[in-house]
Amino acid sequence: MNSRSNLKIYNTLTRKTELFEPIHPPFVGMYVCGPTVYSNVHLGNVRTFTSFDVIFRYLQHLGYKVRYVRNVTDAGHLESDADVGEDKIGKKARLEQLEPMEIVQRYTVDFRNVMALFNNLPPSIEPTATGHIIEQIEMTKQILNNGYAYESNGTIYFDVEKFAKEYPYTELSGRNLDELLNNTRDLGGQDDKKGRLDFALWIKAKPEHLMRWPSPWGEGFPGWHLECSAMSAKYLGNQFDIHGGGLDLVPTHHTNEIAQNIACHHEKPVNYWIHTNMLTVNGQKMSKSLGNSFLPHELITGSHPLLDRGYSPMTVRFFMLQAHYRSTLDFSNEALQAAEKGFQRLMNAVALLPKLQAGTQSTLKVADLEDSVYEALNDDFNTPIAIAALFEGVRMINTLNDGKASLIQEDLDKLKALFQAIVFDVLGLKEENQADNSKVDGLMQLILDQRAAAKARRDFASSDQIRDHLKAIGIEVKDGKEGSTYSFIN
Ligand SMILES: [Zn+2]
Repeated sequence: MNSRSNLKIYNTLTRKTELFEPIHPPFVGMYVCGPTVYSNVHLGNVRTFTSFDVIFRYLQHLGYKVRYVRNVTDAGHLESDADVGEDKIGKKARLEQLEPMEIVQRYTVDFRNVMALFNNLPPSIEPTATGHIIEQIEMTKQILNNGYAYESNGTIYFDVEKFAKEYPYTELSGRNLDELLNNTRDLGGQDDKKGRLDFALWIKAKPEHLMRWPSPWGEGFPGWHLECSAMSAKYLGNQFDIHGGGLDLVPTHHTNEIAQNIACHHEKPVNYWIHTNMLTVNGQKMSKSLGNSFLPHELITGSHPLLDRGYSPMTVRFFMLQAHYRSTLDFSNEALQAAEKGFQRLMNAVALLPKLQAGTQSTLKVADLEDSVYEALNDDFNTPIAIAALFEGVRMINTLNDGKASLIQEDLDKLKALFQAIVFDVLGLKEENQADNSKVDGLMQLILDQRAAAKARRDFASSDQIRDHLKAIGIEVKDGKEGSTYSFIN
């Protein structure tokens, strides 16, 4: 284990920053609630999964063997978290006259493409709700047997009031249970429920409901909260290290997950709960109804009225990591442009690293830089502070490049290794010029072909003009036996 693994994590459950101690080191189990695949993934989700990607990468960098489980919700998520309304995927399928699984396939592919675009690593296991119907039925049976659920007209409800008499039901949210219980006795149109806070484990399918499976209680489908309890226990055990998701999942989804796991296994499922904060645009909450919610591809192409222009995926990733995952992240053209410049400055410095030569003495303190980067990351994955420290390193690299400072070989190697590890492995940034280079190369071939065609028809004025024009913008053309080649001149 890396000696730097002095990692502290803010735990939503205790509202404290705690030393991270896995149950079975060096193994770490981490479960993150994944997308409901009924529409294009929105930017808030990208931020959440990018935050957990950095957490996954950093834990691995520290030497942990991480099993990262992130589910795909492909059934059971109704329009309202209170188990009412139409199934989100079923509704989309009906509107588009497609099979629900066609909707699931389309948006699962979209989700994975967007994750790859932002350089998020795939999780270790990506289980689906429909692939774990049996596990969910078994869990429902066990909770019924343990006395924390009841059947009502083919639907199985979790008995929150009974559970709350024995366990702290609102421990994660910190909400006042009596207030929640007494606020109103309105059952939200579900007369089958005994208590307002009761939620469905298994829901009887109405005749028009498309996605349905046989169960001991008739044809139905699992409640949304159940899949995460069943799949996290299946792949990570009844007790595991980290569970994450967006902050909006705390009061209902995660609160109910904990209740289900305890009611089934009589054990607290998770030691560290990690939650990511929301996105804002120009200081306002990002939401569809305000018209300020843009999709990942709109951010990249700049095809949204609020955006001056588009930004590359790595600019967006860098921008996201400049805010701590527990803070809100505010999008504005100015902030994105500043991030673009910052990212470029970082990458320019990284490109200089291989060219630096060792000297006979060290006039800069690389060890101090290393310490401040790890100190930041160990402080609840504080990427903005770590990035600020990296910019100290950028200044070092530029001073070394200017010959105004020097490092002995050992320190120079340390500096190179630090940037390689943190910029690429942990923050998950990457050079984007490769893709651009291939485009430039294509364009240059086109221009050189045009020039060759001009020469072939003895139009030397045009071919010279092309060569001179390219030279003026810093591209030199050399004519050889095999044709013409080009190179960049500074
Ligand atoms: Zn979940």
